[in-house]
Amino acid sequence: MTGGAVAIIDPSEIYRPDVGNWECDCEREGFRNFSSKGVLFDRVYQTYTSMHTNQCVYFVRAKHDHWLKFNHGELTIMQALEELNSLVDESDPDVDFPNSFHAFQTAEGIRQKHPDKDWFHLTGLIHDLGKMMAIWGENQYCVVGDTFPVGCEFAKSIVYSDTTFTDNPDLKNPKYNTRYGIYQPECGLDNVLMSWGHDEYLYRVLRHNNTTLPDEALYCVRYHSFYPWHTGGDYDHLCNDKDREMMEWVKEFNQFDLYTKSPDLPDIQELVPYYQSLVDKYIPGALKW
Ligand code: FE
Ligand code: FE
Repeated sequence: MTGGAVAIIDPSEIYRPDVGNWECDCEREGFRNFSSKGVLFDRVYQTYTSMHTNQCVYFVRAKHDHWLKFNHGELTIMQALEELNSLVDESDPDVDFPNSFHAFQTAEGIRQKHPDKDWFHLTGLIHDLGKMMAIWGENQYCVVGDTFPVGCEFAKSIVYSDTTFTDNPDLKNPKYNTRYGIYQPECGLDNVLMSWGHDEYLYRVLRHNNTTLPDEALYCVRYHSFYPWHTGGDYDHLCNDKDREMMEWVKEFNQFDLYTKSPDLPDIQELVPYYQSLVDKYIPGALKW
């Protein structure tokens, strides 16, 4: 599948039961209600059901095999941002404008609060670029939504976890269904296999292309959708001290990812020169995706 308008449903951006003051223009009351039966609820629930049914250890390793050859395209950061403009999330009432507006809004929100941290501004700009996978035909349940570790017990704080993991093959595998599963205590998140999505993909693309962004930035990219960890409070038993230290940055980042969505669209042309200078500093040139 190439180009054209691909509708992306991003459950993480529609439905956030774990974030109290999340607002949605549509059905403002109903959305935070698990028993809501609206059209969007069904669609989001369906996406998570597909995700939680399919994303097992074997499946994630196969995705690594497919995506981590970095043979899907060569694009600069700005080209990738532009490509993603053809992705309008038709299901999200808050984000019915091109993806790059969300990128610039997140970046500008961070820039206002942290004017001296240019790496953090750039992190805001690029954090969702792993969604390029959808342009290249990947299923949305392997691109968007909250992420979680595979290879060990699925935590309670995973959205809809009570009902959506029933058919996941790992659920009945004694190698994978215990608290630690295939992991050692405090092994560090770097050693944990995460469900496949846009976070891990962009992280790998950045590393593969030798970015000089600091670890704080890479943690934000890699774990911003890991809600069961940074918001749900689960999986600390797999974390090392570095992860715990870096979680503060992921949480700081997350506020801007969630709450800078607004219909006041930034003048992107005006902002491009500044962000281009950051790209040139930290991730220059055409990247292999
Ligand atoms: Fe994201
Ligand atoms: Fe985002």
